[in-house]
Amino acid sequence: MKLNGTSSNILPNGASLNGNHKNGYALNGHQAGVTDHEELVDEIGDAHGAASIDTPMRPDAFDLDDDTKIDLIEEHFREIMGILGLDLTDDSLKGSPRRVAKMYVKEIFRGLNPANKPTPTLFDNKFRYNEMLVEKDITVQTYCEHHFVPIIGKAHVAYISSGKVIGLSKLNRIVEYFSKRPQVQERLTVQIADELKKVLETEDVAVIIDAKHLCVSTRGVHDVNSSTITAAYGGKFEDEATRQELLRYIAQSNVTI
Ligand SMILES: [Zn+2]
Repeated sequence: MKLNGTSSNILPNGASLNGNHKNGYALNGHQAGVTDHEELVDEIGDAHGAASIDTPMRPDAFDLDDDTKIDLIEEHFREIMGILGLDLTDDSLKGSPRRVAKMYVKEIFRGLNPANKPTPTLFDNKFRYNEMLVEKDITVQTYCEHHFVPIIGKAHVAYISSGKVIGLSKLNRIVEYFSKRPQVQERLTVQIADELKKVLETEDVAVIIDAKHLCVSTRGVHDVNSSTITAAYGGKFEDEATRQELLRYIAQSNVTI
């Protein structure tokens, strides 16, 4: 098995995956020793701060098609498993590199590709419903971009119509699309809010996410109880009374059917 293959020759335009951090974090300070460097990386992993609203992407992100990406990730994940000492000839393990590669590209990180963005169906607000609409408890399943383990929780999404109404399931789809990326919760919250503002042509949008980070519960501090809440309030939701009305609806017990 080849454990030490270089990866730079398989990427388009001769690009290298190594030492090419575009996210503004200085991870490779030459002055830092190995320990300092690792501490810095750990600290960034804990900070969960978003450097930018946009997911940091390489300019050549979509030069490779999905099938090629799956082949390459399979090859590299096989190497990772080999480095860990796992026997890839074992019946239970041998299919894992391909399974992981397909899961990355087609499922859990499919939201990196704008081609997978949902196209919203909008309707005229014929009922002249001018109050807020809240869809609460939307399932959120995203992935911490610092540890590549799940963040699982709920999103509550609200808007006040400026004349357009969106199909309810599209709210779920928008949450899902931006979730299917390596994320930080703050950026996910803002990306959903920005998309809703754009689609609904209004600033009057609110997004609240309450989620558990598996990188906090299953490693590190091993805190299984804490959850993290983030919120983005735009337009009329910056007004205290409107915001309190929203929070009241969210706090109400759910209907059972
Ligand atoms: Zn994390």
